[in-house]
Parts: sequence; structure tokens; C-alpha cells
Amino acid sequence: MNTSPERVKVVVIGAGQAGLSVAYYLRRFELVAGQDFVMLDRAPGPGGAWQHRWSSLRLGTAHRVNDLPGLADLGLSFDTADRALPAKDVVADYYGRFEEHFDLQVRRPMNVRSVTNEGVDLLVRYEDLSPQPVEELKTRGLFGRRRKTFEAPQTVEAPQLELSTQFLVNATGTWGSPFVPFYPGMGEFAGRHLHTSDFSSAEDFRDQHVVVVGGGTSAIGFMLELEDVAAGLTWVSRRPIDWIDRQELDLEGASAAVAMQDEAARSGRALPSIVSGTGVPKSRRIAAGIERGLLVARPMFDRIEEDRIVWDGEQQGSARADAIIWATGFRPELRHLAPLKLREKAGGVTVGQGAAWSDPRVFLAGYGPQASTIGASRAGRMIARQIMAML
Ligand code: FAD
Repeated sequence: MNTSPERVKVVVIGAGQAGLSVAYYLRRFELVAGQDFVMLDRAPGPGGAWQHRWSSLRLGTAHRVNDLPGLADLGLSFDTADRALPAKDVVADYYGRFEEHFDLQVRRPMNVRSVTNEGVDLLVRYEDLSPQPVEELKTRGLFGRRRKTFEAPQTVEAPQLELSTQFLVNATGTWGSPFVPFYPGMGEFAGRHLHTSDFSSAEDFRDQHVVVVGGGTSAIGFMLELEDVAAGLTWVSRRPIDWIDRQELDLEGASAAVAMQDEAARSGRALPSIVSGTGVPKSRRIAAGIERGLLVARPMFDRIEEDRIVWDGEQQGSARADAIIWATGFRPELRHLAPLKLREKAGGVTVGQGAAWSDPRVFLAGYGPQASTIGASRAGRMIARQIMAML
């Protein structure tokens, strides 16, 4: 039996805005035909990280969501999407149509576990997370009979697969790598800790005392949603909120934030938080929240006790907490790339124009300055051009 892995020109990991944009330009520049190119995604369906976001999140409540390339002719645009519908559904539908229109045939749900250097090629090891048929012995009374059934992947070993590739485009985003800072007493807290990525509905906090941590748009969104539901609400932020007098943040215009990200990526440093470079726009809803005293952040607490957060310094005092929501951001999800040793001592990966400095076969789409829907869409052209030059 021939056990050598399938060999292709380009593997793209991640079918979010960045991965889809790269796929579009690879096809448009006619760099890859169907059999030369594979896209893998861990999630069960289209939508990138958006499909996992909470139902009450709407397009435009945070920032502008930009279109993918190539769909304008079809009259499909986020600008005309229904803002009354959950963003998770709108984006999943839009990405799904994109994949279908350009016949991208994303392989999912496929979780990439590692990428290793195998000389000329890179070896991508991944697992098939789809439910696997298992033989189960079902006994009925005196008679036993075997039948075919399906079980969740955790009870059955997921099939392990391999792909050998000339180029790798990693477009895995950040959703799978939530960041929660450490504070003394975290382990003693008797209530619930959860991160932005665990939030599903404000109703889960009815009549509870909730602490929201973070200075970005997610934290603000949670405060607004919880206002009429929670019994008590405390907002804390490590930095004073940098309010800006604009209704909506156009990430395209947020050039200072993009430059900060680019500089960190080019020098291999850990990426700064986006909101530290953009400031937070005051939409009408937010301005009203500030006005009525809801959106006033207290400084970060010093420690956590069983049922409360405590300030020891100048602030002195405490606030009751049944739940703490850590809206403290994400880190790029790059664990599977560890064998390639791309990470620098400074904490990041050195990346310029989407290309990893230490390995010319590897591209990081959606990383650093590309970490917005506009940046991710642009990443496609930039990366496809570089691959074209090397093919
Ligand atoms: P993602 O959409 O995260 O896609 C990555 C894909 O990679 C996923 O489908 C995932 O399943 C897959 N993947 C990850 N790891 C693996 C693996 N090991 N194996 C296989 N597949 C894997 N930006 C804006 O421009 N406007 C906004 O309004 C806005 N709102 C936001 C709201 C929130 C709450 C958050 C957290 C972010 C928001 N952003 C917004 C940022 C925006 O989501 C991103 O910049 C952009 O959508 C990310 O696209 P992406 O393709 O890089 O990543």
C-alpha cells in the first residue's frame, strides 16, 4: 500500500475572511487548480470565527465589516446585509455563498495538529473531526444484535491524515486562543469565570452580580446587554478608556493602530491589542450609556475573593461577583506551527506583508496589521502575489 501523503502546491489552514481571500486570489491569478490546493478548517460549517460568536452580536455594533473580494458582481455585500439578524448567521451565509460560488471545497471539520519541516516540503498533520461510524453492540433482551451508529469524536479516535505541501498559508485567526490575565485569588473564586469566547447570552446572568473586565468593544457590548438583566454590574479596565468622538470605527482609517501592529509583526514582538491603537468610538448607544453612568470603568481590581473582587490600593473597596467575564482579548492561534520554530524570543513571529521571515514557504494571513476584515481581505492579494513569484 502506498502510504505517502497527498502532495499539493498550497495548503490554506482556516476558512475565515483571511483564508477565503487568499483562496480567491490564488484562483484568480490561476496559480492553483483544484487538485493543487487544499483548504482545511476545524469548524463544522462556513463563517470562520463569526459562527461561534454570541447570537445578540450584530454587524456594525463593533466595527465595519468589509466584503470579501469578488462578490460585488453578485450583488452580495455586508453593507446591504440585514443588521437585525445575528452577525454569526449573516457572515456564515455570506462565506458559504462565497465558497460555493468559487467552488472552494473546504475540507471540514479538519483540525490541523502540526506542521513540520520535511526538507523541500512542509508536512501538515490533521485530524478529521466529523462523527465517525463505530460498531456498537446493542443488546435487546435475550438477543444481541449489532448495528451501525455514530458517536462524537471524543469517544472514537479521529482519523489522522497528512498532506505534503510546497507553501502553507496559515489563516487561523485568534478565536481559538483566548487570553485571560492572572490575578491573585482567581482559583478561590466560587463563581463563574468566562471569557468573551464563552459568552452566549445575557440571560445566563439574570439576577447575578457580574464583573466585566476589559476596555474594548466586546466589554462595552456586554455591559450594555447586561444592564437590564444583571442584579449588579461592575466594569473594570486596566487602562482608562480612550473614547473617540466618532460613531463608528472604520478599521481602514485606523492607520495608527495598523502601523503599530505592523511594526510589532515586523520586529517579531508580541502583538499589541488593537483597541490600544484605535480608541473606542462613541456610537449613539454608547454615548447614552456613558451619559447615564453605566459605561464608567473602574480601575483594575487587585485580587479576587470567593464572592467578590477587591481593590487594595487607593481605590479600597470591593464589589460582589457571581460571574467575571474576561473580555481581555485573544492571541494568534499558532500552536500547530510550533515545530517550525517561527516564534522569536521577543514573543511574536517576524512577519512582513504576510510572509514569515524565517521560512519563505510560510505565510500568516490575518496576522498583525491584517487582523480586521479589511486587512484580511487585502492579505489575499498580497500573499497570492508572493506565492506567484515563487512558483
Ligand atoms: P477567523 O475568522 O478566526 O478564521 C479562522 C479560521 O481558522 C476559523 O474558521 C477556524 O475554525 C480555523 N482554524 C483555527 N485553527 C485551526 C486549526 N488548527 N486547524 C484547522 N482550522 C483552524 N473585524 C472587523 O473588521 N469588523 C468587526 O466588526 C469585527 N468585530 C469583531 C468582533 C469580535 C467579538 C471579535 C473577537 C473580532 C472582531 N473583528 C472584527 C475582528 C475580525 O473577526 C477578524 O479580523 C476577521 O474576521 C478574522 O478573520 P480571520 O480569517 O483572520 O480569522
